[in-house]
Amino acid sequence: MATIKAVRGTRDLLPPDTTLWNHVEATARAVFARYGFGEIRTPLFEATELFARGVGEETDIVSKEMYTWEDRGRAESDKGQSLTLRPENTAGVVRAYIEHGMADSGMLEKLFYIGPQFRRERPQRGRYRQFWQIGAEVLGPPWSGSDSALRDAEVLEMLATLLDELGVKGWRLALNSVGSAEDRTRYSAALREALAPVKHLMCEDNQRRAETNPLRVLDSKEPGDQEIINGLPKIADFLGDDSRAHFDQVKAALDACGVPYVIDPRLVRGLDYYTRTTFEFTVPDGSGLGTQNALLGGGRYDGLSEMLGGPKAPGIGFAIGEDRLILTLQAQAAEKQPAKLDAFVAPMGAAQNPAALKLARELRRAGLTIEVGDGNFRLKKSFEAADKLARKMVIVGEDEVNSGLFTVKNFAAGEQEKIPREDLATALSS
Ligand code: AMP
Repeated sequence: MATIKAVRGTRDLLPPDTTLWNHVEATARAVFARYGFGEIRTPLFEATELFARGVGEETDIVSKEMYTWEDRGRAESDKGQSLTLRPENTAGVVRAYIEHGMADSGMLEKLFYIGPQFRRERPQRGRYRQFWQIGAEVLGPPWSGSDSALRDAEVLEMLATLLDELGVKGWRLALNSVGSAEDRTRYSAALREALAPVKHLMCEDNQRRAETNPLRVLDSKEPGDQEIINGLPKIADFLGDDSRAHFDQVKAALDACGVPYVIDPRLVRGLDYYTRTTFEFTVPDGSGLGTQNALLGGGRYDGLSEMLGGPKAPGIGFAIGEDRLILTLQAQAAEKQPAKLDAFVAPMGAAQNPAALKLARELRRAGLTIEVGDGNFRLKKSFEAADKLARKMVIVGEDEVNSGLFTVKNFAAGEQEKIPREDLATALSS
């Protein structure tokens, strides 16, 4: 019979890889806590309209990549509601922010999330149809200071700290400002005008974008179109005084903190809700990501809450591609061995199995990491398993059980010694 496999673009995360996933998530939680963030968990699916309005109908995500279905509820009221697996989490967070009246406190909200997102993209290394994001959002009513450039710099400095703490090598922060909604309207008009006489020379996607969402043309990686794109007007020349001053303040604060960045005038990002600061962190070639070298992206979204029917609540946030972060860490630390268990408890015969399990129980309760063998197996097999899994092996034979004096083999040192039961936990932890 044909076997059933995981769906294309999805994958199982298995040990020992999951140890690294847990480490990354624990480090993110610890760093976020130091900056005053609390966790939010929103549903994996939402009303389709949330993403259509929040992310934008014209984005690739909404126009081609969402998993959307008509729900067939039992009640008359849920019949035919269009639902979508979340392709990103910012719209969901802002929806929850509005729904729970969080703006009423007048305070700045700092929220983070960790969880899967879903996009029907062409699967390749570093690009999946179910992938994980670690993200955070800072938002609040204008009088909470949520639109201050200080917040942009704080979020960027936190990301630099997180990547450094995880040991990501060679990260690069690209920064830009896409201006206010008004600046973007003027810039879009200028782009449309500049593209009109040349767009017929571009790929089909860019011809369409030139009409519907000319900013997206700047995102294009189409090799044949790069010359035209490089010659297009730059957003920096269309920023109003406020946007320019805001961007200058972000840069000054980053300079003061010693966080390095490069200005990338083409960085507009694929989602419609961004205003003013946009950013992306990439890693160098050879970091295990191939062409998908964007580790994380984000930016400011001053009008998103209002687009979703909420109060004025400027904000800034980011989403780290956790799958890509893990691939990077694995590629950059390829030479590191996975951690071994403290000890392997090896019964010498089936009769010693209960005693071995009892000893393992004591040692585990003392906080040690332990695997237990099986006395039914040949001795050679136990030794091989022990050497592979653990730093040390405790032999549990009839004599040992009776005398309370256990033989401990240290694989790295190639030594063997006898240790009384009461000293075992201490001896094995060193
Ligand atoms: P975005 O939500 O598009 O701004 O993406 C933020 C980050 O999520 C990117 O920089 C990637 O690291 C990651 N990401 C986006 N799409 C995928 C995907 N299909 N598979 C894996 N990671 C992704």
